[in-house]
Amino acid sequence: MSKRYDIIVLGLGSTGSSITYFLARKNASNVLAIDARCSGCGQTSRSSALIRLHYTNPVIRSMAIYSWRFWREFQDHTGCEYSVFTKTGIAFVGPEDYVDTMNEIVHDIRSKGIEAYLYDPTEFKKEVYKNFNEDGIAGVAWEPESGYGDPNTSVRCFIEYARKNGVDVLEYTSVKKLLREDSKLIGIETEDGVIKGEIFINALGVWCNDLLATIDKQLPIKYAREDVIYLENPGDIDGIPPGWGDLVYGFYSRPDGATKTLVGTLEAEYVDNYDEPGEYTTPPMDVVNKRMEIFTRRFPDMIKARPSSVIYGYYDVTPDWQPIIGYDNEIENLIHMVGLSGHGFKLAPAYGEVISDIALYGKSKMFNVDEFKIDRFYVGVSKHSKYKYGIIG
Ligand SMILES: Cc1cc2nc3c(=O)[nH]c(=O)nc-3n(C[C@H](O)[C@H](O)[C@H](O)COP(=O)(O)OP(=O)(O)OC[C@H]3O[C@@H](n4cnc5c(N)ncnc54)[C@H](O)[C@@H]3O)c2cc1C
Repeated sequence: MSKRYDIIVLGLGSTGSSITYFLARKNASNVLAIDARCSGCGQTSRSSALIRLHYTNPVIRSMAIYSWRFWREFQDHTGCEYSVFTKTGIAFVGPEDYVDTMNEIVHDIRSKGIEAYLYDPTEFKKEVYKNFNEDGIAGVAWEPESGYGDPNTSVRCFIEYARKNGVDVLEYTSVKKLLREDSKLIGIETEDGVIKGEIFINALGVWCNDLLATIDKQLPIKYAREDVIYLENPGDIDGIPPGWGDLVYGFYSRPDGATKTLVGTLEAEYVDNYDEPGEYTTPPMDVVNKRMEIFTRRFPDMIKARPSSVIYGYYDVTPDWQPIIGYDNEIENLIHMVGLSGHGFKLAPAYGEVISDIALYGKSKMFNVDEFKIDRFYVGVSKHSKYKYGIIG
């Protein structure tokens, strides 16, 4: 006889592992969490993992604030041996027509008791960091307490906590098919047989449409490829740049430990196919040259930085670059937490909190996430960022 679970979490990246952790923390029983690879080995393993608060959407911003607090207190919440948060400070630099929005966001963050400032570029140079060229920048939204996370350790500790608290975790077990009867899912088929369930949580990231195809369903998700360049910092530079989101030139960067900096793009390069996320041993020079051109235009002293490697991964992007959260519109026991659109790592704690509530109590108690239901795409209500770059949210 096949085993039956109350809740089955599909996919154990930052999203599924956080959901699994929160289910365990809320004493959910009879839960299975399953992944085709090792947990955290999908797109999460490629993440630049910036943890910031600057979001134009107020609900996502409050989830970012909740998550930022959680990441900083990660060891207390999970009992993890290691800290997973590194503070670097993050500056968002924008042109004149973004300054009012930047100001609103900074005020809102400060109203929650968190440090945030809006500078003009000259003041920012005096007060915080000076080695950049001001071209096109009218405002700098500075979050001194933001930084970046450690995706692999976070996922490992979420899963360890869940296992210790009674969740069954199956890794290296691919779900081949979803099993549907009328408007309900009844189980999943793996290489080892059928597993039955009551509630199913889709945290499959870029792979979700592959599995949904087995029940003739597709979500409005496109795939965007993201190459991230890792640089060896020059030894003789007067302070390396802090975390940086450049809404003028369209790139982001952050320190990576004491000796490296990584640089990514805010532009979307949509693709039809995604392979296993990977790493180039020999960096592709066209990508490196293009990215270095804008990065060193902003930070001329970094011209001496040496590209050491490039990694690439994929974003699961919705039409408005905001996530799909909540029950499916047709299948009554399927909950989605996908379409994270390239900014989903930092929000994993909030997503776990929300989805565990929806699975256990029918609705999210902490955040009103109704605007992120799948239905919005069928009634044409876009939640796009107020900025040109949707990934900023
Ligand atoms: C290069 C890059 C840079 C990024 N930078 C940032 C950033 O700075 N800040 C930020 O907040 N976000 C960032 N993101 C986005 C963030 O990393 C992702 O949104 C997040 O990690 C996605 O997690 P996930 O759990 O939804 O997906 P994944 O980590 O991809 O997890 C999905 C899981 O589903 C499993 N799976 C798939 N198919 C099956 C199947 N048939 N059966 C069983 N299991 C299956 C996979 O093995 C995988 O482990 C970045 C992403 C990339 C690629």
